[in-house]
Amino acid sequence: MAGELKEVQGIIFKRQKYKEADLLAKIMTKEDGIITLVVRGALRPKSKLGAAAMNFSYGTYVIYTSGHGLSNLRTYKEVKQFDSLYNDLTKNAYASFILDLIDHAFIEYQPLGKYYDLALFALNKINQGVDSEVITQIVQMQMLAAFGVEPNLRSCVLCGKTQGIFDYSIKLGGIVCSDHFRVVNSRLHLTPKAVAVLRTIGLIPLNRLGKIKLDPALKKETRQAIDRIYRETLDLNLKTKKFLDELKFFK
Ligand SMILES: [Zn+2]
Repeated sequence: MAGELKEVQGIIFKRQKYKEADLLAKIMTKEDGIITLVVRGALRPKSKLGAAAMNFSYGTYVIYTSGHGLSNLRTYKEVKQFDSLYNDLTKNAYASFILDLIDHAFIEYQPLGKYYDLALFALNKINQGVDSEVITQIVQMQMLAAFGVEPNLRSCVLCGKTQGIFDYSIKLGGIVCSDHFRVVNSRLHLTPKAVAVLRTIGLIPLNRLGKIKLDPALKKETRQAIDRIYRETLDLNLKTKKFLDELKFFK
């Protein structure tokens, strides 16, 4: 297939040295998916292409692509930078994990659709100083569907009840109402409040998400539940997650 020049909107998120002064950088785009770009001469001092391909840069890029394999970054228009993601180690770690997570849910050039909006939403919020931990939990709950393990958060997996007190069962793949607490051995024994948070952040469309404020104990409980859901349903082992956990340990 012949290549073509194409304008894409995207976020740069993973860089590694390639040949000589060239760089490989991943770009996350909405319509064209995740693409690995060769950025020629990017590692030379004063390279403009290199500057436009810094981590967490976003904007309009002009690439030469054949729709598979490596593409080439040719030039760019209106590229901006999420400054505080770049400069703040903790925010950087959260943002890197989020983009890594999305990276693992898709194959290259597979359109991301609403998950691109999710990435932009999360990066914007973290960059603005909104609680990175809460934003990350929202992303993780919403990403489960992209990994093909969308839990039933709407209604009890056993009887369909939508209101009441709920717990969560990884084995059953969703929430269970208090009518079956005695018979469901696999439930996580979460507080009803934590389950309510998981439901809210997993279900609500981003544009309707208001400010979500969680006290530290609740945030820790939902963190542990989400980690467990990920551990027991997906085999990811992301280095970015490990780094984030270590960073939190030392804070
Ligand atoms: Zn039920």
